[in-house]
Amino acid sequence: MAESRSLSRVEALRLGPPDWKHACHALLYAPCPGRLFGKIPLRFAVLMQMRFDGRLGFPGGFVDPRDASLEEGLNRELHEELGPGATSLLVAERDYLSSHASERPQRVVAHFYAQRLSLEEFQTIEDRATQAKDHGLEVMGLVRVPLYTLRDGVGGLPAFLSNTFIGSAREQLVHALDTLQLVPGEQLQKAVTMAQKKP
Ligand code: AMP
Ligand code: MN
Repeated sequence: MAESRSLSRVEALRLGPPDWKHACHALLYAPCPGRLFGKIPLRFAVLMQMRFDGRLGFPGGFVDPRDASLEEGLNRELHEELGPGATSLLVAERDYLSSHASERPQRVVAHFYAQRLSLEEFQTIEDRATQAKDHGLEVMGLVRVPLYTLRDGVGGLPAFLSNTFIGSAREQLVHALDTLQLVPGEQLQKAVTMAQKKP
């Protein structure tokens, strides 16, 4: 998908069918005290997935006209994509972060949510993800986002941000890392700049 523009929830909800489809995705994260190589703080575990189309994205998907609300559609998609480890997960309106509208390849309004879990809850989702209905189909596997930058200035978050992302997923990720304070502002800015420079 090409360009997308950020819009408020109220503006986003004015874009209705049949012209616009609505999709919801969520960033799940947990505090993570471990250190890579016993040295580099991991800080948080942040969940993304490798999608069927080879792009990185967040779990979630299209809201169905049969879903009573955006959040009901989101929770249905999360259960399909993450499986039995996510049964007790319930993302709600208070977890809402942003909306983006894009016109190509089709008119989609993408709503974005974030929820903090305990590391134990996060690991239960990872452990059971291969039992999800969509595993090996729409979802090729879960990944954690490296939040650190290695000494070469590229390895870690900058290299991760140089991957190909679906829709607004890259903007959603950077915005969430900033507003949820998962990465210090200056370090995040450097990683974004370095990712743009990388050939
Ligand atoms: P999905 O069913 O997860 O592929 O998502 C439904 C629609 O939302 C597709 O048109 C995707 O292009 C789009 N999409 C998927 N993930 C995101 C995302 N993180 N941000 C914006 N749009 C997305
Ligand atoms: Mn999906």
